[in-house]
Amino acid sequence: MTQATQSPTKVDSKASFTGLKCKECGTEYEATAIHVCELCFGPLEVSYDYSAIARRVTRATIEAGPKSIWRYRDFLPVATDNPIDVGTGMTPLLQANRLARRLGLKKLYIKNDAVNMPTLSFKDRVVSVALTRAKELGFTTVSCASTGNLANSTAAIAAHAGLDCCVFIPSDLEAGKVLGTLIYGPTVMSVQGNYDQVNRLCCEVANTYGWGFVNINLRPYYSEGSKTLGYEVVEQLGWELPDHIVAPLASGSLFTKIHKGFQEFIKVGLIEDKHVRFSGAQAEGCSPIAKAFQEGRDFITPVKPNTIAKSLAIGNPADAVYALEIARKTGGNIESVNDAEIIEAIKLLAETEGIFTETAGGTTIAVLKKLVEAGKIDPEETTVAYITGNGLKTQEAVQEYAGQPLTIEAKLDSFERALERSRTLERLDWQQVSV
Ligand SMILES: *Cc1c(COP(=O)(O)O)cnc(C)c1O
Ligand SMILES: [Zn+2]
Repeated sequence: MTQATQSPTKVDSKASFTGLKCKECGTEYEATAIHVCELCFGPLEVSYDYSAIARRVTRATIEAGPKSIWRYRDFLPVATDNPIDVGTGMTPLLQANRLARRLGLKKLYIKNDAVNMPTLSFKDRVVSVALTRAKELGFTTVSCASTGNLANSTAAIAAHAGLDCCVFIPSDLEAGKVLGTLIYGPTVMSVQGNYDQVNRLCCEVANTYGWGFVNINLRPYYSEGSKTLGYEVVEQLGWELPDHIVAPLASGSLFTKIHKGFQEFIKVGLIEDKHVRFSGAQAEGCSPIAKAFQEGRDFITPVKPNTIAKSLAIGNPADAVYALEIARKTGGNIESVNDAEIIEAIKLLAETEGIFTETAGGTTIAVLKKLVEAGKIDPEETTVAYITGNGLKTQEAVQEYAGQPLTIEAKLDSFERALERSRTLERLDWQQVSV
């Protein structure tokens, strides 16, 4: 693994991003592999020339683009005409009528990134952008600190792009997420500690080795990939904003970037302005942002995570203050649910809509339910729930609760007896529920 050059490639004239800017003090920087402001330690964010984008981009030019996140290339921080395109993005936006009826909503949509390519979570979006930029900046080895899905995406997309890859994960991850990383052949460091400890270690490694860490020194580029979850929903709703969105929070980045995506489409004149409420979902066993929201604080108190929603288990979330601000100013909420509610919600989504999501998606649906029951989502609102990962990766969370197949002999009468037994059991189930 070789050292990377840190000098920026020349930004070509077609690129619409102009550099990096501190979110706190506004100091501007060149678009290199840096992520923290030297003056105030605030996070850096990519800035764009929106009037140039407005001149160049129309609904028609986007619709004529590739069937992937790269149809929004003008809004992404890359200079190349040949981004790494592994078919990431343009996942289904499903009208969820049966789930809506169960919850008491009228217009509910599921944005289904459980089937995002190539590794079945929304992280493929952020990694496609980060690794495209990593190549432009001259990195030959890429890395990440992951709660599971990010390691899958980084390993897979690095393999496709021919980049060396070394990823760091906490040692207590689900088997599906570990195998779903190892198979692509990266170096995998299983760290004895939780995500926050993995992240701290990775910050040290990033400072010593010349590697491109997608969520550390490449974080400004990486996080922009999440905006495509905003753009796609708008395009799929017929170039209109929804009234309310519900999304899960780990670091809080995804949540804030969906907001940025909506705002950018308004700014360049692609859509009408409209007020959208932003609600966030956390698991009770790791809910520092939900706690701060409920207690009216604008800062979080870090926690030690303990939940089955491991992909959301960040105890010291980097973008918490911005997520809190967006939920508050849009009139949304940030709620948490316990592990039992998460499992129930995974089953509810599967049984009503035919979507098998992981624990993060269970968290989102359980919070959606809780908010509807508390009157915090109006049944008339067009609501979009973001499903960010696939249930086949967190099988141990639901194994005990999904039931068992009926084992029979290969004979008709054995089948018939089993069928009768299962119908009797179903009736008993119903009687128990109705007493
Ligand atoms: C990483 C992740 C999230 C949240 O990401 P942040 O941007 O850190 O808030 C949500 N869902 C799944 C499945 C994830 O892997
Ligand atoms: Zn600053």
